[in-house]
Amino acid sequence: MKNITVIGSGTMGNGIAHVFAQYGYQVSLVDISKEALERGLAVIGKNMDRQVSKGSLSEADKAAALARIIPTTNLAEGVAHAELVVEAATENVDLKLKIFRDLDAAAPAGCILASNTSSISITKIAAVTKRPESVIGMHFMNPVPVMKLVEVIRGYSTSDAVTAQIMELSRKLDKVPVEVNDYPGFVANKILMPMINEAIITLYEGVAGVEEIDNVMKLGMGHPMGPLRLADFIGLDVCLAILRVLHDGFGNPKYAPCPLLVNMVTAGHLGDKTGKGFYDYSNPKAPVLAERFRKKELV
Ligand code: NAD
Repeated sequence: MKNITVIGSGTMGNGIAHVFAQYGYQVSLVDISKEALERGLAVIGKNMDRQVSKGSLSEADKAAALARIIPTTNLAEGVAHAELVVEAATENVDLKLKIFRDLDAAAPAGCILASNTSSISITKIAAVTKRPESVIGMHFMNPVPVMKLVEVIRGYSTSDAVTAQIMELSRKLDKVPVEVNDYPGFVANKILMPMINEAIITLYEGVAGVEEIDNVMKLGMGHPMGPLRLADFIGLDVCLAILRVLHDGFGNPKYAPCPLLVNMVTAGHLGDKTGKGFYDYSNPKAPVLAERFRKKELV
Protein backbone atom coordinates (compact mmCIF):
# COMPACT_ATOMS: atom_id res chain seq x y z
CA MET A 1 0.00 0.00 0.00
CA LYS A 2 1.25 3.45 -0.92
CA ASN A 3 -1.76 5.73 -1.36
CA ILE A 4 -3.92 6.59 1.65
CA THR A 5 -6.86 8.98 1.79
CA VAL A 6 -7.93 10.52 5.11
CA ILE A 7 -11.42 12.00 5.32
CA GLY A 8 -11.71 14.86 7.83
CA SER A 9 -8.88 17.11 8.89
CA GLY A 10 -9.91 17.77 12.51
CA THR A 11 -8.25 16.51 15.71
CA MET A 12 -8.03 12.87 14.60
CA GLY A 13 -7.82 13.28 10.80
CA ASN A 14 -4.79 15.54 10.93
CA GLY A 15 -3.09 13.16 13.39
CA ILE A 16 -3.77 10.17 11.14
CA ALA A 17 -2.52 12.05 8.05
CA HIS A 18 0.58 13.08 10.04
CA VAL A 19 1.48 9.49 10.95
CA PHE A 20 0.92 8.03 7.46
CA ALA A 21 2.96 10.84 5.83
CA GLN A 22 5.75 10.46 8.39
CA TYR A 23 6.00 6.74 7.56
CA GLY A 24 6.35 7.41 3.83
CA TYR A 25 2.77 7.05 2.54
CA GLN A 26 1.28 9.40 -0.02
CA VAL A 27 -1.68 11.06 1.73
CA SER A 28 -4.71 12.74 0.26
CA LEU A 29 -6.43 14.78 3.02
CA VAL A 30 -10.11 15.54 2.33
CA ASP A 31 -12.38 17.93 4.23
CA ILE A 32 -15.52 19.86 3.26
CA SER A 33 -13.97 22.99 4.72
CA LYS A 34 -10.93 24.75 3.24
CA GLU A 35 -10.28 26.40 6.60
CA ALA A 36 -10.30 23.01 8.36
CA LEU A 37 -7.71 21.75 5.85
CA GLU A 38 -5.51 24.80 6.47
CA ARG A 39 -5.88 24.40 10.25
CA GLY A 40 -5.13 20.68 10.00
CA LEU A 41 -1.96 21.23 7.96
CA ALA A 42 -0.82 23.92 10.42
CA VAL A 43 -1.33 21.53 13.35
CA ILE A 44 0.63 18.79 11.55
CA GLY A 45 3.48 21.27 10.92
CA LYS A 46 3.51 22.33 14.59
CA ASN A 47 3.43 18.76 15.88
CA MET A 48 6.26 17.78 13.52
CA ASP A 49 8.26 20.80 14.77
CA ARG A 50 7.92 19.35 18.27
CA GLN A 51 9.30 16.01 17.01
CA VAL A 52 12.20 17.85 15.36
CA SER A 53 13.02 19.72 18.58
CA LYS A 54 12.99 16.41 20.48
CA GLY A 55 15.32 14.85 17.90
CA SER A 56 12.84 12.16 16.78
CA LEU A 57 12.43 13.64 13.27
CA SER A 58 14.94 15.44 11.05
CA GLU A 59 14.14 18.75 9.30
CA ALA A 60 14.55 16.99 5.93
CA ASP A 61 12.16 14.15 6.89
CA LYS A 62 9.64 16.71 8.15
CA ALA A 63 9.75 18.60 4.85
CA ALA A 64 9.42 15.34 2.88
CA ALA A 65 6.47 14.19 5.03
CA LEU A 66 4.64 17.50 4.65
CA ALA A 67 5.18 17.39 0.88
CA ARG A 68 3.47 13.96 0.78
CA ILE A 69 0.15 15.41 2.07
CA ILE A 70 -2.14 16.76 -0.64
CA PRO A 71 -5.22 18.60 0.71
CA THR A 72 -8.48 18.74 -1.22
CA THR A 73 -12.17 19.53 -0.72
CA ASN A 74 -13.11 17.21 -3.61
CA LEU A 75 -13.86 13.71 -2.31
CA ALA A 76 -13.92 11.99 -5.73
CA GLU A 77 -10.54 13.52 -6.60
CA GLY A 78 -9.15 12.67 -3.15
CA VAL A 79 -9.98 8.96 -3.39
CA ALA A 80 -9.26 8.41 -7.10
CA HIS A 81 -6.01 6.47 -6.41
CA ALA A 82 -6.68 5.34 -2.84
CA GLU A 83 -5.76 1.83 -1.70
CA LEU A 84 -7.08 2.62 1.80
CA VAL A 85 -9.45 5.33 3.01
CA VAL A 86 -9.50 6.21 6.73
CA GLU A 87 -12.61 8.22 7.54
CA ALA A 88 -12.29 10.59 10.52
CA ALA A 89 -15.16 13.01 9.91
CA THR A 90 -17.54 14.33 12.57
CA GLU A 91 -19.16 11.61 14.77
CA ASN A 92 -22.67 11.60 13.29
CA VAL A 93 -24.27 8.43 12.02
CA ASP A 94 -26.19 9.93 9.06
CA LEU A 95 -23.11 11.84 7.95
CA LYS A 96 -20.94 8.69 8.10
CA LEU A 97 -23.50 6.62 6.15
CA LYS A 98 -23.57 9.29 3.42
CA ILE A 99 -19.76 9.49 3.30
CA PHE A 100 -19.46 5.69 2.96
CA ARG A 101 -22.06 5.58 0.17
CA ASP A 102 -20.04 8.27 -1.65
CA LEU A 103 -16.74 6.51 -0.92
CA ASP A 104 -18.11 3.20 -2.22
CA ALA A 105 -19.12 4.90 -5.47
CA ALA A 106 -15.88 6.90 -5.92
CA ALA A 107 -13.06 4.71 -4.56
CA PRO A 108 -11.35 2.13 -6.81
CA ALA A 109 -12.53 -1.50 -6.55
CA GLY A 110 -10.33 -3.25 -4.00
CA CYS A 111 -9.80 -0.12 -1.92
CA ILE A 112 -10.31 -0.80 1.81
CA LEU A 113 -12.70 1.60 3.57
CA ALA A 114 -11.88 2.15 7.27
CA SER A 115 -13.59 4.32 9.88
CA ASN A 116 -12.03 5.90 12.95
CA THR A 117 -15.45 6.13 14.65
CA SER A 118 -15.49 5.88 18.46
CA SER A 119 -18.94 4.38 18.74
CA ILE A 120 -20.85 3.85 15.48
CA SER A 121 -21.38 0.26 14.36
CA ILE A 122 -18.91 -0.81 11.63
CA THR A 123 -21.47 -3.40 10.50
CA LYS A 124 -24.04 -0.63 9.97
CA ILE A 125 -21.55 1.49 8.01
CA ALA A 126 -20.49 -1.53 5.92
CA ALA A 127 -24.12 -2.36 5.10
CA VAL A 128 -24.57 0.81 3.01
CA THR A 129 -21.68 -0.21 0.73
CA LYS A 130 -21.36 -2.91 -1.93
CA ARG A 131 -18.07 -4.05 -0.34
CA PRO A 132 -18.91 -4.88 3.30
CA GLU A 133 -16.03 -7.40 3.40
CA SER A 134 -13.62 -4.47 2.85
CA VAL A 135 -15.06 -2.16 5.52
CA ILE A 136 -13.30 -2.13 8.89
CA GLY A 137 -12.75 0.01 12.00
CA MET A 138 -9.32 1.56 12.46
CA HIS A 139 -9.71 3.32 15.80
CA PHE A 140 -6.68 5.48 16.57
CA MET A 141 -6.32 7.19 19.95
CA ASN A 142 -5.79 10.90 20.62
CA PRO A 143 -3.11 12.27 20.14
CA VAL A 144 -2.49 9.96 17.17
CA PRO A 145 1.27 10.58 16.70
CA VAL A 146 1.86 9.70 20.38
CA MET A 147 -0.58 6.92 21.30
CA LYS A 148 0.45 3.38 20.38
CA LEU A 149 -2.92 1.62 20.21
CA VAL A 150 -5.00 1.00 17.11
CA GLU A 151 -8.25 -0.83 17.90
CA VAL A 152 -8.95 -2.83 14.72
CA ILE A 153 -12.68 -3.52 14.58
CA ARG A 154 -14.07 -6.36 12.50
CA GLY A 155 -17.57 -5.71 11.24
CA TYR A 156 -19.91 -8.70 10.87
CA SER A 157 -18.80 -9.16 7.23
CA THR A 158 -15.17 -7.94 7.35
CA SER A 159 -12.91 -10.52 5.68
CA ASP A 160 -9.90 -12.21 7.29
CA ALA A 161 -7.68 -10.87 4.50
CA VAL A 162 -8.71 -7.24 5.05
CA THR A 163 -8.29 -7.60 8.82
CA ALA A 164 -4.79 -9.06 8.36
CA GLN A 165 -3.84 -6.21 5.99
CA ILE A 166 -4.94 -3.53 8.48
CA MET A 167 -3.18 -5.27 11.39
CA GLU A 168 0.02 -5.42 9.32
CA LEU A 169 -0.29 -1.81 8.16
CA SER A 170 -0.78 -0.59 11.75
CA ARG A 171 2.47 -2.32 12.75
CA LYS A 172 4.25 -0.57 9.87
CA LEU A 173 3.19 2.74 11.50
CA ASP A 174 4.89 1.55 14.73
CA LYS A 175 1.50 1.13 16.36
CA VAL A 176 0.21 -1.85 18.32
CA PRO A 177 -3.01 -3.13 16.71
CA VAL A 178 -5.58 -5.05 18.77
CA GLU A 179 -8.28 -7.00 16.94
CA VAL A 180 -11.80 -6.76 18.38
CA ASN A 181 -15.34 -7.58 17.27
CA ASP A 182 -17.97 -5.00 16.39
CA TYR A 183 -20.23 -4.59 19.43
CA PRO A 184 -21.27 -1.29 21.07
CA GLY A 185 -18.29 0.68 22.37
CA PHE A 186 -15.88 -1.96 20.93
CA VAL A 187 -13.41 -2.62 23.80
CA ALA A 188 -11.90 0.79 24.59
CA ASN A 189 -15.15 2.66 25.25
CA LYS A 190 -17.06 -0.35 26.64
CA ILE A 191 -14.60 -0.30 29.53
CA LEU A 192 -13.57 3.38 29.70
CA MET A 193 -17.03 5.00 29.60
CA PRO A 194 -18.60 2.98 32.44
CA MET A 195 -15.53 3.86 34.54
CA ILE A 196 -15.99 7.58 33.78
CA ASN A 197 -19.74 7.28 34.43
CA GLU A 198 -19.04 5.53 37.77
CA ALA A 199 -16.67 8.36 38.76
CA ILE A 200 -19.45 10.88 38.02
CA ILE A 201 -21.97 8.76 39.98
CA THR A 202 -19.49 8.68 42.90
CA LEU A 203 -19.37 12.49 42.84
CA TYR A 204 -23.19 12.74 42.41
CA GLU A 205 -23.75 10.49 45.43
CA GLY A 206 -21.49 12.69 47.54
CA VAL A 207 -19.01 9.91 48.26
CA ALA A 208 -16.08 12.20 47.44
CA GLY A 209 -15.20 15.44 45.62
CA VAL A 210 -13.75 15.85 42.10
CA GLU A 211 -10.11 16.10 43.12
CA GLU A 212 -10.42 13.28 45.64
CA ILE A 213 -11.88 10.92 43.00
CA ASP A 214 -9.21 11.86 40.46
CA ASN A 215 -6.43 11.48 43.05
CA VAL A 216 -7.58 7.99 44.04
CA MET A 217 -7.42 6.82 40.44
CA LYS A 218 -4.16 8.66 39.63
CA LEU A 219 -2.17 7.83 42.75
CA GLY A 220 -3.82 4.54 43.64
CA MET A 221 -4.32 2.97 40.21
CA GLY A 222 -1.49 4.64 38.32
CA HIS A 223 -3.78 6.34 35.78
CA PRO A 224 -1.97 9.31 34.16
CA MET A 225 -5.18 11.39 34.40
CA GLY A 226 -8.13 11.06 36.80
CA PRO A 227 -11.43 9.94 35.19
CA LEU A 228 -13.15 13.33 35.68
CA ARG A 229 -10.20 15.23 34.19
CA LEU A 230 -10.20 12.71 31.34
CA ALA A 231 -13.96 13.19 30.80
CA ASP A 232 -13.41 16.95 30.42
CA PHE A 233 -10.58 16.27 27.96
CA ILE A 234 -12.67 13.90 25.82
CA GLY A 235 -15.72 16.22 25.98
CA LEU A 236 -18.71 15.53 28.23
CA ASP A 237 -21.04 15.54 25.20
CA VAL A 238 -18.91 12.83 23.57
CA CYS A 239 -18.94 10.76 26.81
CA LEU A 240 -22.73 11.09 27.04
CA ALA A 241 -23.24 10.13 23.38
CA ILE A 242 -21.08 7.00 23.80
CA LEU A 243 -22.90 5.99 27.01
CA ARG A 244 -26.19 6.28 25.12
CA VAL A 245 -24.81 3.98 22.39
CA LEU A 246 -23.85 1.41 25.08
CA HIS A 247 -27.20 1.80 26.86
CA ASP A 248 -29.25 1.44 23.64
CA GLY A 249 -27.00 -1.27 22.18
CA PHE A 250 -26.97 -3.62 25.18
CA GLY A 251 -30.30 -2.57 26.76
CA ASN A 252 -28.62 -2.89 30.14
CA PRO A 253 -29.35 -0.25 32.85
CA LYS A 254 -25.75 -0.46 34.06
CA TYR A 255 -24.84 1.87 31.17
CA ALA A 256 -27.46 4.54 32.05
CA PRO A 257 -25.70 7.92 32.05
CA CYS A 258 -25.49 9.68 35.44
CA PRO A 259 -28.09 12.50 35.70
CA LEU A 260 -25.27 14.89 36.68
CA LEU A 261 -23.53 14.21 33.34
CA VAL A 262 -26.81 14.82 31.50
CA ASN A 263 -27.30 18.12 33.39
CA MET A 264 -23.78 19.31 32.63
CA VAL A 265 -24.15 18.62 28.91
CA THR A 266 -27.57 20.32 28.84
CA ALA A 267 -26.05 23.36 30.56
CA GLY A 268 -23.26 23.50 27.96
CA HIS A 269 -20.47 22.65 30.42
CA LEU A 270 -18.67 20.24 28.09
CA GLY A 271 -15.14 20.31 29.54
CA ASP A 272 -11.97 21.73 27.97
CA LYS A 273 -13.68 22.77 24.73
CA THR A 274 -16.14 25.13 26.46
CA GLY A 275 -13.75 26.14 29.27
CA LYS A 276 -15.90 24.56 32.00
CA GLY A 277 -16.62 21.03 33.17
CA PHE A 278 -15.48 19.35 36.37
CA TYR A 279 -12.59 21.81 36.20
CA ASP A 280 -12.40 25.45 35.07
CA TYR A 281 -10.07 26.06 32.12
CA SER A 282 -10.10 29.89 32.13
CA ASN A 283 -6.33 29.44 32.25
CA PRO A 284 -5.95 26.26 30.17
CA LYS A 285 -2.37 25.71 31.39
CA ALA A 286 -3.49 25.69 35.05
CA PRO A 287 -7.03 24.28 35.42
CA VAL A 288 -8.70 24.71 38.81
CA LEU A 289 -11.71 22.95 40.33
CA ALA A 290 -14.96 24.34 38.79
CA GLU A 291 -16.83 26.63 41.18
CA ARG A 292 -19.86 24.33 41.29
CA PHE A 293 -17.78 21.51 42.79
CA ARG A 294 -15.90 23.58 45.38
CA LYS A 295 -18.63 22.99 47.97
CA LYS A 296 -19.17 19.31 48.77
CA GLU A 297 -22.94 19.23 49.24
CA LEU A 298 -25.70 19.63 46.59
CA VAL A 299 -23.81 18.58 43.49
P1 NAD B 1 -13.35 17.05 14.65
O1 NAD B 1 -14.63 17.75 14.88
O2 NAD B 1 -12.09 17.60 15.27
O3 NAD B 1 -13.08 16.92 13.06
C1 NAD B 1 -14.04 16.48 12.17
C2 NAD B 1 -13.70 17.04 10.78
O4 NAD B 1 -14.57 16.39 9.84
C3 NAD B 1 -13.94 18.55 10.64
O5 NAD B 1 -12.77 19.17 10.15
C4 NAD B 1 -15.09 18.64 9.63
O6 NAD B 1 -15.01 19.77 8.78
C5 NAD B 1 -14.88 17.35 8.84
N1 NAD B 1 -16.04 16.90 8.07
C6 NAD B 1 -17.36 16.99 8.41
N2 NAD B 1 -18.12 16.47 7.41
C7 NAD B 1 -17.26 16.06 6.44
C8 NAD B 1 -17.44 15.45 5.17
N3 NAD B 1 -18.64 15.18 4.67
N4 NAD B 1 -16.34 15.17 4.43
C9 NAD B 1 -15.09 15.46 4.91
N5 NAD B 1 -14.87 16.03 6.11
C10 NAD B 1 -15.94 16.33 6.87
O7 NAD B 1 -13.60 15.53 15.11
P2 NAD B 1 -12.51 14.48 15.68
O8 NAD B 1 -12.41 14.62 17.15
O9 NAD B 1 -11.29 14.52 14.83
O10 NAD B 1 -13.30 13.10 15.43
C11 NAD B 1 -13.32 12.49 14.17
C12 NAD B 1 -13.70 11.02 14.32
O11 NAD B 1 -12.74 10.38 15.16
C13 NAD B 1 -15.06 10.78 14.99
O12 NAD B 1 -15.66 9.66 14.38
C14 NAD B 1 -14.70 10.48 16.43
O13 NAD B 1 -15.64 9.65 17.08
C15 NAD B 1 -13.39 9.73 16.24
N6 NAD B 1 -12.47 9.74 17.40
C16 NAD B 1 -12.23 10.89 18.10
C17 NAD B 1 -11.32 10.86 19.16
C18 NAD B 1 -11.00 12.13 19.92
O14 NAD B 1 -10.41 12.02 21.02
N7 NAD B 1 -11.31 13.31 19.41
C19 NAD B 1 -10.66 9.68 19.49
C20 NAD B 1 -10.90 8.53 18.73
C21 NAD B 1 -11.82 8.57 17.69
